[in-house]
Amino acid sequence: MAKTVDAATMRQINKRYVTEYIYTRAPISRIDISTMTGLNKATVSSLVDELISEQFVVETGYGTSNGGRKPVMLQFNAKAGYCIGVDVQITHMKTVLTDIMGNIVYKRIRPMDAAPDHLTQAVLEELLLDEIDRAAAQAPPSTHGIIGAGIALPGIVNFKAGCAFYLPNIEIHNWDVVGALSNVFSFPIFIDNDGNCGAWSEYRNRHVDNLVFVNVGIGIGTGIIVGGRLYRGANGIAGEYGHTTISAIGVPCACGNYGCWEQYASEQALLRYLSEGEEVPESLELSPNLVALAVEEATQRATYRRAFETVGQYLGIGIANIVNALNPDLVVVGGTMAQGAHLFESQIAAVLKHRAMSFNKQVPVAFADEDTIVVGAARMPVWNTILQSPLSET
Ligand SMILES: [Zn+2]
Repeated sequence: MAKTVDAATMRQINKRYVTEYIYTRAPISRIDISTMTGLNKATVSSLVDELISEQFVVETGYGTSNGGRKPVMLQFNAKAGYCIGVDVQITHMKTVLTDIMGNIVYKRIRPMDAAPDHLTQAVLEELLLDEIDRAAAQAPPSTHGIIGAGIALPGIVNFKAGCAFYLPNIEIHNWDVVGALSNVFSFPIFIDNDGNCGAWSEYRNRHVDNLVFVNVGIGIGTGIIVGGRLYRGANGIAGEYGHTTISAIGVPCACGNYGCWEQYASEQALLRYLSEGEEVPESLELSPNLVALAVEEATQRATYRRAFETVGQYLGIGIANIVNALNPDLVVVGGTMAQGAHLFESQIAAVLKHRAMSFNKQVPVAFADEDTIVVGAARMPVWNTILQSPLSET
């Protein structure tokens, strides 16, 4: 039996549609919104007036006419409020303050105070409190203030429960992140897997419906967009391609398995390949600058170039597995390793040509901006409060 929806609920649903169209497709006119959504012109005008009075939307001038009067164009008011994004990695924490449209107005990178095996839940909570506080203090005056904070975490995260079930490289289990932080701040807190945050960011930037974001740092995580929606799986934890087995009796992994993809194509793997070379790099260790330092060394030393090439070959193997399974429009490689893209992109292309099947050989592989994950984290509050987009649903 069809559900009946009262008029107020229907208006809220329509308002979300109109809000999202303006957020994602501006500059856009009232007529354009009416045509795209199928809502009648009077409803669109009334909802737009409401959004203008709330200062979320502004009129920006006239567009081109198709014969009649020139339409008034609308766009989101980027300065109506601010969002905080945090990207928690094993070696460092990156925090940004962005406007509502995701433009960065403040950024800070803080090395972790403790080694990975001493990073406890309490240490991370303390750091998160401090970093979010610092970012909030940087927000310029605005109508809506801080919309919220989004935190990207490296592991198995349940977005809806606000809980990190397992962060494999830090050995943290069942951490109620949102519960621990939401009593402290007056704005809402959201968490998600870092790969999902990167996928959201890239999906908004790249305009394709099927996309896989591969986050390569100390480990590997992925975020999967299928048919314009984030694919979360039955329990909200899909995307752990980093822990798919590529060698049955391979290198032991922090997850307890052997031969996981991330053991062959991550920062950990890069360090291991370097240590197996003829020049052992004593000064290199897992740090926020590892890849940048290794890229610099690679301009002079073949050992470093070969290590990156090996990473590229294994990245290619994992990406071939992904494209053969999902046949996406695009794969985007992000995370710290993307800084070395010029040293391994031809290896990825060569492996894909060999191992991907049929049309999957032509799936393009792009590389992400270094801030794409943290900006995706900062956009979570916008998606989940102002827009309440289907993209955020499990
Ligand atoms: Zn693993």
